[in-house]
Amino acid sequence: MTIVKNKKRCRKLIYIGLLAVAVFLVFWAYLSSQSAMATCIFCDIISGKSPTKFEVETDDYVIFKDIKPASDHHYLAVPKRHTESVVALTKNDIEVVNTLESGMRKFLATKGIESNETLLGFHMPPFITVKHLHLHGIAPRSNMSFLMRFIFKPHSAWFKLVDEAKEYLQNKS
Ligand SMILES: [Zn+2]
Ligand SMILES: [Zn+2]
Repeated sequence: MTIVKNKKRCRKLIYIGLLAVAVFLVFWAYLSSQSAMATCIFCDIISGKSPTKFEVETDDYVIFKDIKPASDHHYLAVPKRHTESVVALTKNDIEVVNTLESGMRKFLATKGIESNETLLGFHMPPFITVKHLHLHGIAPRSNMSFLMRFIFKPHSAWFKLVDEAKEYLQNKS
């Protein structure tokens, strides 16, 4: 009898623990979104307030290294105009995505990176760390860790390949 009771109590504690973790995560997501609203790291990088080496700079976008590379090569193509994410774009903004994509492809080609070994895509809210649109360019895919393959998982709710993102915008009313 007491063993059964203890088991029940144990399960209850586990549920309470899980609930506490869930509540903490929600608050953490909320607080980090608040601080992202106050200042935008990528806007600071683009304006030169936060010095970063640009691999490419045009009138419309910059390309620089990701500070937490997911493979041997990991770059971000970031439009100069602040937009939160793909979700904030409309059908008329597909050109923005095309510009980032072609810029990233051209740049990776200058590094001698094979296009069939690259992963190009966007994170989807709320799974974005910096709320300023950025295209990830990662290569080679085969050198990505299990965790990174999960974080940058094509066709998932949190990551869209560049073609998926275009399709998403095309279908937006
Ligand atoms: Zn910004
Ligand atoms: Zn990202």
